[in-house]
Amino acid sequence: ADRFIAPTQTSKVEEQFDRAIRPQKLSDYTGQPVVKEQMEIFIHAARNRGEALDHTLIFGPPGLGKTTLANIIAHEMEGDIKTTSGPILEKAGDLAALLTNLEAGDILFIDEIHRLSPNVEEVLYPAMEDYQLDIIIGEGPAARSIKLDLPPFTLVGATTRAGSLTSPLRDRFGIVQRLEFYNIEDLTNIVMRSARLSGTIISEEGAKEVAKRSRGTPRIANRLLRRARDYAEVKGDGEITKPIADLALNMLSVDEQGFDHMDRRLLLVMIEKFAGGPVGVDNLAAAISEERETIEDVLEPYLIQQGYIMRTPRGRVVTDHAYLHFGIDKPSID
Ligand code: ADP
Repeated sequence: ADRFIAPTQTSKVEEQFDRAIRPQKLSDYTGQPVVKEQMEIFIHAARNRGEALDHTLIFGPPGLGKTTLANIIAHEMEGDIKTTSGPILEKAGDLAALLTNLEAGDILFIDEIHRLSPNVEEVLYPAMEDYQLDIIIGEGPAARSIKLDLPPFTLVGATTRAGSLTSPLRDRFGIVQRLEFYNIEDLTNIVMRSARLSGTIISEEGAKEVAKRSRGTPRIANRLLRRARDYAEVKGDGEITKPIADLALNMLSVDEQGFDHMDRRLLLVMIEKFAGGPVGVDNLAAAISEERETIEDVLEPYLIQQGYIMRTPRGRVVTDHAYLHFGIDKPSID
């Protein structure tokens, strides 16, 4: 939880900053060309027909823009958005209350949708399929089932792990989008845009340096931008130049690959304690005192995408890149 570049956990200040810079329109959504092109067409078509957009599932690691995209969909469809999350919806009644408050064309956004309880999920099926609410109220002999018609709405679900969705739920989404880590060019553009909207002075080289160290993740890029701004204001003349960005990010111990202490710890433990692997994720979790879920959802995806870790049937192994990164000789096998 003390992880500076944690892609989750937000503070009040961050929320404020975020409101100023969060893209509202699809045209402001940087990168993700495939997702953008498809959504543009689907939204356009639904609007022309005067229908609600098909239910949409968005998956990808934290901080890549799932919530942002859900809000953009609402904005582009000119509907209101109601936001909730899987763990918050404890009872079927909680979901029923939300559903009955929707108006035609509204968006219901459920974050962490893989964490819905089964009884809540069951209410969702007829709601998604036929815009029908089908729920039992009361208990014992007094229990009765009520059916209600719901207005046509769009469910947008977000999840970090597509594999954890039950197949009946997954099958009810007409649109499935997968967000990818952002490349440096897109992240540079995001940083430049955020700087402009927040009145931060930054050179293109400075923005690129922040982008390079952001783990492919817009939320981290925006967070590092804020810290680099602090540094530039106190130690420099206010402008984030490349040298200032370098110094600021080194101070935060974000290295040139964008790895922070947790990334380095994970890789080093694999190298030093497990001879590079293969090692099972539970053993890794115990060795670095982290939740298995944190490793699988937050740490590992980027390290795998960058080619530092590989998944094999017998567990995780580090690649040559990891040895090179730390300047450690790979043990020879003989
Ligand atoms: P998630 O819901 O996937 O965890 P968010 O949608 O909250 O991620 O995105 C984190 C922050 O990153 C947002 O506040 C937004 O400012 C920024 N962001 C995300 N995606 C983009 C994008 N495609 N273009 C510009 N900024 C983005």
